[in-house]
Amino acid sequence: MYNSAATRHFSGTYAEARQKFLDAAAQRGAAIESFELEAHRGALGETLATDVAYLGKPGAAKLLIVSSGTHGPEGFCGSGCQISTLNDADLLSRIEQAGIGLLLIHAVNPHGFSHLHRTNEDNIDLNRNHIDFSAPLPVNAAYSEVEPLVLPANWPPTAADVATMTAYIEKNGMRAFRTAVTSGQYTSPQGLFYGGKAPSWSNRTMRGILRKYASEATHIGWIDVHTGLGPYGHGEKIYAGRNAAADLALARAWWGADVFSVHDGQSASPDVSGPVVSTVYDECPNASAALMGLEFGTLPDMEVMNRLRADTWLRRHPEAPEAQQITIRQGLRDAFYCDNDEWKGMILGQSRVVLLQTIEGLKTA
Ligand SMILES: [Zn+2]
Repeated sequence: MYNSAATRHFSGTYAEARQKFLDAAAQRGAAIESFELEAHRGALGETLATDVAYLGKPGAAKLLIVSSGTHGPEGFCGSGCQISTLNDADLLSRIEQAGIGLLLIHAVNPHGFSHLHRTNEDNIDLNRNHIDFSAPLPVNAAYSEVEPLVLPANWPPTAADVATMTAYIEKNGMRAFRTAVTSGQYTSPQGLFYGGKAPSWSNRTMRGILRKYASEATHIGWIDVHTGLGPYGHGEKIYAGRNAAADLALARAWWGADVFSVHDGQSASPDVSGPVVSTVYDECPNASAALMGLEFGTLPDMEVMNRLRADTWLRRHPEAPEAQQITIRQGLRDAFYCDNDEWKGMILGQSRVVLLQTIEGLKTA
């Protein structure tokens, strides 16, 4: 029987999401390529891989990219958007008629997706890892000051821990606190929002994918799907490109006045160092690119941060009791994936509009 429920595109585990994606891509006749993370296995013992599905003429000049799972379990959402697209005959025929190539990159961070960590196998936040490692590393001086506050010795934090953190926020302001914690740091490998010391496996894999599938493109629209910031179910269109007025103007021309920039403080996200999508400037230097982080809200921002703190604390404390480990893991999953029909419907409605806008933008480019 035909299942018309939009929610069928979503999955409960990475392994299920991967299989659904590969099946949907095969059914559409897409060219499929898998990049395995060979040194690791998934939470269920499964193969971990970043999978690519490509539809359209090879080497298309106009390219639409949708990527998922840059931040591990945020991939439950992005995977649903990608699989929904593969099942959307109307959208696919518009893409085909416009001569646009469609590149779907599933599970940029397969280890985190499967094991339910926002960071990768080395605790690296991939959206802080795409920097020039031959240059001096970005400095986030405030991070070392806030780390002991956000990652105390005990979890949950003691009353004294809470008071110290509250005092810091009252003195410096919430925005400064969040920026110190989340903008990226390169000094504490077991800390929060750690950017790494070298390009990660995912970074190298993504560059290889772009070189193969995007090197001939002259116009690129790239949507990297995220969750965990902003109002529940709302897809904030975060401008993820470089700080250049013409590039921001292009993104707003395609996607609307509600494209918020991290460069001027409009976005729920701070300006972060080294997002994945910035690789387009290195690997496709001659292409005109419109880059977006499509960020769907889940729980209140501070609640999400607290669950991230707990997860990072747990990685530092593998001796924690099993019951606490299960609670923290489940809490982390729920922070990035609202497993209910209402939320999923909001996600698919908004992502479809963004894809349609991108198709129309690429047509006029
Ligand atoms: Zn994210």
